[in-house]
Amino acid sequence: MKVNEMIYSKTTLKSQDYIDLETKWCAHNYHPLPVVLTRGQGVWLWDVEDKKYLDMMSAYSAVSHGHCHPKLLATLKEQANRLAMCSRAYYTDVLPLLVKKLCAVTGMDQALPMNTGAEAVETAIKAVRRWGHFSKKIPENKAEIIVMTHNFHGRTSGIISFSSEPEYKIGFGPFLPGFKEVPFGDAVALKSAITPQTCGVLMEPVQGEAGIIVPPKGWLTQVAQICKDHNVLLIVDEVQSGLGRTGKMFACQHENIDPDGMILGKALGGGFLPVSALVGKKHLMEVFTPGSHGSTFGGNPLGAAVALRALELIEEEHLVEKSAELGNYLMTKLKSIQAPCIRDIRGIGLWIGLDFDPSIVSARTICEKLKERGVLSKETHHTVVRLAPPLIITKEELDWGAERIKEVVERCGS
Ligand SMILES: *Cc1c(COP(=O)(O)O)cnc(C)c1O
Repeated sequence: MKVNEMIYSKTTLKSQDYIDLETKWCAHNYHPLPVVLTRGQGVWLWDVEDKKYLDMMSAYSAVSHGHCHPKLLATLKEQANRLAMCSRAYYTDVLPLLVKKLCAVTGMDQALPMNTGAEAVETAIKAVRRWGHFSKKIPENKAEIIVMTHNFHGRTSGIISFSSEPEYKIGFGPFLPGFKEVPFGDAVALKSAITPQTCGVLMEPVQGEAGIIVPPKGWLTQVAQICKDHNVLLIVDEVQSGLGRTGKMFACQHENIDPDGMILGKALGGGFLPVSALVGKKHLMEVFTPGSHGSTFGGNPLGAAVALRALELIEEEHLVEKSAELGNYLMTKLKSIQAPCIRDIRGIGLWIGLDFDPSIVSARTICEKLKERGVLSKETHHTVVRLAPPLIITKEELDWGAERIKEVVERCGS
């Protein structure tokens, strides 16, 4: 069959046909669960055989608003009908409203729009390096950035240069120099790693991909203080932890720290589009001059309109408060499960990691069994199952999911 014929005769194709096609024609840089999705609404997803699933993963937190949020869809359609893309060679009547809103919600002075999280992280790296060379007067090409062990900031060759995961790095060198790694949660190590060449500290306030690692209380405050004392800029990567996921608008607000820059992405696109941004204080953002940095699609009116509405909806629908309340509720439920295969349950807000004893069961096996029962999650590393449902989830929907998780986990040895 020709590809065109296959697309138009979709109804005759089964899940396994799509899996076979993708396996043949798409590079194998992921290991998807064997489910072929065709439709989503709110917290629910449907496969091509019309089986319904509860989304407990939200595309790594990009779908905090739920699938196809009707109000975001209306904004998307309206903007797409008017003007979708024109590049920042010109001004538009949308981007100014988004950047003003981004500054209002973060308490920052200026924003620089990008598309993917990794691009916004790259933007932050360039900004702090330039600040280091121009303002702190670090000799050219000597600026150092301190990062945390087991960080995840994306997949560009620059970013993987300071990853501690061999899997992300093997064969991809040579790597970008100028990064130093200290253990997450260790303020003493951070302090002793700082030199006169240090321009910035880049960190996730809660480590997501590492397995939902919440730092010890007080650490964020210590990091912020150490940075201030040493004239080092603090950049928090809130791509996954931000916009309500942890029960605060931003995870760094759990300790009320005041970073110099914040990186946003994932849920900023409302589950429709890749929209990201570096938002920062004036002293950081003023290093950018015309021509120094850019992105063809960054700040496009379609993405900007959706992101602006996505930010408004987080407030209108009280998603931050819901994340805090329902997160506590789910945590209590999960902690009541009696199962020897669970080593640890940790998390914050609607962002919980179930850590399994690998000598009993792999996180992958748990995800496969959950899928059979209609709950979609995804393992991170080999032992952690991530639970991060859309923040619009109701208590009843969460109960439905928790019940199925309980059934699977209680039988996890068998
Ligand atoms: C996902 C993620 C990124 C990268 O975002 P992409 O859109 O995949 O490039 C960066 N930082 C953190 C903390 C993330 O979780």
